Amino acid sequence: MHDTISLPPDEIPRSWYNILPDLPSPLPPPMDPQEGPSRLGNLGNIFSKGVLMQEGSTERYVRIPEEVRELYIQSGRPRPLVRARRLEKALNTPARLYYKSEFYSPTGSHKVNTAIPQAYYAKQEGYERMATETGAGQWGTALAYACSLVGLDLTVYWVRAASSWKAERFRLMQLYGADVHPSPSDRTEVGRGLLKEGDMDHPGGLGIAISEAIEDVSNDPRAVYSLGSVLNHVLLHQTIIGLEAKKQMEMVDDYPDVVVSCLGGGSNFGGLAIPFFRDRIKEGRDIKFVAAQSEVAPNLNGEYRYDFGDYAEQTPLLKMCTLGHREQFPPIKGDGLRYHAAAPIMSALRAEGYLDTIIYPSDEEYVFQQTKKFVETEGFLPAAESAYSIAAAMDEALACKESGEEKSILFNISGHGFMDMHGFADVLKLG
Ligand SMILES: *Cc1c(COP(=O)(O)O)cnc(C)c1O
Repeated sequence: MHDTISLPPDEIPRSWYNILPDLPSPLPPPMDPQEGPSRLGNLGNIFSKGVLMQEGSTERYVRIPEEVRELYIQSGRPRPLVRARRLEKALNTPARLYYKSEFYSPTGSHKVNTAIPQAYYAKQEGYERMATETGAGQWGTALAYACSLVGLDLTVYWVRAASSWKAERFRLMQLYGADVHPSPSDRTEVGRGLLKEGDMDHPGGLGIAISEAIEDVSNDPRAVYSLGSVLNHVLLHQTIIGLEAKKQMEMVDDYPDVVVSCLGGGSNFGGLAIPFFRDRIKEGRDIKFVAAQSEVAPNLNGEYRYDFGDYAEQTPLLKMCTLGHREQFPPIKGDGLRYHAAAPIMSALRAEGYLDTIIYPSDEEYVFQQTKKFVETEGFLPAAESAYSIAAAMDEALACKESGEEKSILFNISGHGFMDMHGFADVLKLG
């Protein structure tokens, strides 16, 4: 009996699963604000047709292009599902813990799962360059990888506060051939405005960097914009995680009672959970869904209303659980969990009562202490964001120890932490 559950490459799903037709009520559509130019009208100028068609598609299963499937295999898919038997023993829990190992990604996170198809569609449609923003740096690195594989240039606007202490990730993006700029930069009007107002070291924020990337492509017909989370098509691509996991659970004759992951914009959580939300909605399966968040940006507890996705209000209004698009959040090591709103799909599921949250303190000590136990027993070093998923799965397993319930707990490890060592060392005071 192996605890690493591997799916053969020819078993990679042939379609992504689109939950839109199966949601309990139709997803509120994106809207234009009362004032200013039409954001909806501008979408065709900034996104590729491939992803725009998927954004509103109600087709239940969307075929994965053969070339994309091959790139998925090249990127190491299918990724193993692991039964965390050593961790179970250390916790002395009757629960069964399974983790999906997205940390086997070449750039270190699940974000390659959407970077690959997004770069593929842009190349197909004749674009020469992509532009994007990145916060923690994982998205910029994933898109740099995908652009280098398909042969596209890439410009990355990287939130200055994070870029300044992650020199290795900066270098990795450059190795893939990307052109990387700390944001706010002097390359856009939005950026120049902010630099003038404050000092030249403005720390930036994800919403600001999004505004810079959108402005960049709006001025260049050969360039297309790409977003690494939140939107429907991103979550669609990420369902590859949960579709694989479902097959892998079947291989060991198990099915999750609890599905857990960390949630920033919602793409890794949605990727793992959406195929199981289907079972809950359509078949009434009894599954608990838990999203792990930080106290600095608990967006799932925000108001469910229309809000912009970016600081400069260039995106359409999306109905989301939001803390407000101008809100500033104190830095944490799990920087990818610091976004003001949750994906419309995840927000709708939250509003319907399908999704629970657990919120961890901003000092991150508990989360990283728990994760240290995972590192010691399972041996893999997770990303700082993934540490929240691990802590939440462990909390569920500890609750089972109290109650004696033999639950099956499925969680996602969205990335590896080889470039997050500073974060772990700071918080855990590793001498
Ligand atoms: C970006 C990122 C996250 C948070 O983003 P989601 O869209 O919520 O998944 C979590 N973990 C890792 C490793 C990331 O790179």
